[in-house]
Amino acid sequence: MTQKYEPVIGLEIHGELLTNSKMFCGCSADYGSAPEPNINICPTCTGLPGAMPVVNKKATELAALVGLALNCSINKHNTFARKNYYYPDLPKGYQISQYELPIAEKGWMDVNAGDENQLKVRVRRVHIEEDTAKLSHEKNYALVDFNRAGVPLLEIVSEPDMRTVEAALDYATKVRAILRYLGVNSGDMEKGVLRFEANISVRPVGSDELRTRTEIKNLNSFRALTRASQYEIERQIKIYEDGGSVLQETLGWDDVRGVTISQRGKEDAHDYRYFPEPDLPPLQLSDAWIDSIRNQLPELPEAKTARFISDFDLKRSEAQFLTSEKSLADYFESVLSKSKSPAKAVHSWIAGELMRYLNESNLSIDDLTLSPESFAKLIDMTTEKVISGNSAKVVFNEMVKSGSDPEQIVKEKNLAQVSDEGFILETVTKILNDNPKEVESYLAGKDTLLQWFMGQIARTTKGKADPNIAKELLLKGLEERKK
Ligand SMILES: [Zn+2]
Repeated sequence: MTQKYEPVIGLEIHGELLTNSKMFCGCSADYGSAPEPNINICPTCTGLPGAMPVVNKKATELAALVGLALNCSINKHNTFARKNYYYPDLPKGYQISQYELPIAEKGWMDVNAGDENQLKVRVRRVHIEEDTAKLSHEKNYALVDFNRAGVPLLEIVSEPDMRTVEAALDYATKVRAILRYLGVNSGDMEKGVLRFEANISVRPVGSDELRTRTEIKNLNSFRALTRASQYEIERQIKIYEDGGSVLQETLGWDDVRGVTISQRGKEDAHDYRYFPEPDLPPLQLSDAWIDSIRNQLPELPEAKTARFISDFDLKRSEAQFLTSEKSLADYFESVLSKSKSPAKAVHSWIAGELMRYLNESNLSIDDLTLSPESFAKLIDMTTEKVISGNSAKVVFNEMVKSGSDPEQIVKEKNLAQVSDEGFILETVTKILNDNPKEVESYLAGKDTLLQWFMGQIARTTKGKADPNIAKELLLKGLEERKK
C-alpha cells in the first residue's frame, strides 16, 4: 500500500442469536435443522396483515449479555423501529430493528493493531433485529424459504476506529470469540450465522477528515473480510491517485474474481424511512434485571488471557492462542491440572501436535476424545525424559487413534528412552568409526554433518537415545578425533 494514504475502517457484525423461537413469534428459529423449506412459519414471520409481533425474552437477555461483554451501557428504555425497504426475502416490506434507542451502546474493545500496540475500538451500538428469509437463485427463477425469516439477529456496529486490515481482522476475531464464549452464537460462518460488513474509506496520512466511504456487504469468512478490505483500500487509493472521487455505494464481494462489485448507490438512514414500530411497546429494563444479566457473564477471553499470563507465566501470544476458544482454554486448564509439567510444556503440546492433528483430521477441539488425564501423562513422560520427543509423537498419534493409555503404548512399542551413557557412547563410537569420510569432512568445517550424525544415532537406536546426551557424546567424540 502507498504510504501516503491510510484506511479508515469500521465493521458491522451481524450474528444470529441462539434462541429456540424466532424474534417476534413462536416459530422454531432452528432453520438449519428444518427438513424442508417454509415449515417453521406463521402469519407473523411471513408478514400477513393483522399479525402482531411479540418480543422474544431470551433474545433480549442474550442481546444485553453481548452488550455488557462489549463494555456497553444498557439503555433501560429502548425501542423498536421499522426499517422500510422492499426485497423478496422481506415479506413485510420492512424489517423490525432498533434505530434511535438500541438496547446497548457506547462500548469498547481492545484489539491488536498489527504492530504490537493495543488499540481501543469503540463499539457504537448493539441492536436487536430480525433476519430475512433465504433466497436461492436458480437459472430462470428464485426460490424463497421463510424458515429463516424472523430469526433473532444482533447487529454490532463499531466506530470507524481501525486503521489497518489486521486491526479489523483482530476485532472481528475477538467479537466472534466473545459471542462463542457467551454461547449466543456458534460462530459458524460457513452456515452464515455470522456475517461481516466493512465500511471503508481512505485518506491522506495525518488527515482527520472522514472521506466518502463504501460498504462491503455479506462477508462470510475472515478470508473474505481480509481480501475484500485490502482490495477496496487499493481501489480507492488508485481513484484518488488518478484524481477521481470515491462514490458512496454498497458493494458486494466476488470471492472468485477477487473484486468488489457495485450493488447499489448512495444509501443513508433517511432512505429507510425509519419510524417507531407501532405494534411493539418500548422495552423497559430494570436495574435488577440488568444486574442479573451481568451476573451471568463468564470469564471472557481478555480476562482469561491476563490470568493465564500472570498465573502460568505464559507469553501474551501463547495465552491469547489458548483463550481464543473457550473449549481450548478449558482443555488446557484441565490437562495442566493433571500434569506435573510446566504450563509452557502443556501449551507447546497443544499448540503443536494437538493442533496439527486437529487441522489434519478437520476436527475441532470439541470433537477431541483424548482425555486430559492421558494427555497429561504423555506430556509428563516427555518432560521427565522417560521417552524421547520423537517417540512421544508416535505415542500421541497412537493415543488419538486408539484412545489407549500412553504408558501401555510405550511398553508395547518398546519406546522407553535410553539415557544410559555407556550404551549411547558405544553407539556413537561405532558410528564415528564406521564413517571416517564424514568425520574428516566435519572436521574440515562441514558443520551440517552434525545433523547427519544425529540422524544415524536416532536410526541405530530407533530414536530411543536421549538426544541431549547423544549430542554431547557425539561432539566429544568428534573433538577427540581432531588430534
Ligand atoms: Zn412465525
